[in-house]
Amino acid sequence: MKLVGGDLCLDFVNTVGGRTPVGGGSASSRVLADKLAGYADLVAWGRHTESVADAAARHLVRLGESLPREAAEVLGRAVAFREALHRTLRSLMLGRRPDPPDVSLLNLEIAAARGREVLTPFRGRLRWEWPDAGGRLDSPLWPVSRAAAALLTSGDLSRLRQCGGDGCGWLFLDRSRNRSRQWCRMEDCGNVSKVRRFRRRRAGRAVRLGG
Ligand SMILES: [Zn+2]
Repeated sequence: MKLVGGDLCLDFVNTVGGRTPVGGGSASSRVLADKLAGYADLVAWGRHTESVADAAARHLVRLGESLPREAAEVLGRAVAFREALHRTLRSLMLGRRPDPPDVSLLNLEIAAARGREVLTPFRGRLRWEWPDAGGRLDSPLWPVSRAAAALLTSGDLSRLRQCGGDGCGWLFLDRSRNRSRQWCRMEDCGNVSKVRRFRRRRAGRAVRLGG
């Protein structure tokens, strides 16, 4: 899975094949090809982004297999969290107030992650760690919650963009110097759009020549 968000919580929001907006200018979207089809997908994504350590991931997959009902519940929570996060980010991008139920859901997930954090000595200082990360099915969501809390309260979402590709809708932080990035990846959506523009121009010329 491609990681283009530039922030863990945006890569989480992008665990879909794509999105199409629902209704004119709405912050809601329809998900195309959900990449989180099972609990193991959530763990695999965490491992891929290195937000879940290898040993913890192996343990979580086994735990998920032994507790399928609980694992399915966590997956449902993950998808609800992702969609609330997406709508909230889109609302902020559109200059709107996020929906209170979405913000409540984000608060719940952030509180769950914070409730498991423990101060641990690290290189002459202390840092936040999750000692029971491998033993709790919902632990892949904790680093995402932490990243979401940091991004949402950063006060500057001016670099937050949505890919302009048809049926893509992935979010990313535009870190280009002149803030001109339009696509999740030039190799994918950027090129598709270029080819489409070229075809349209050529078709227009053919019509003019024909007429
Ligand atoms: Zn794209």
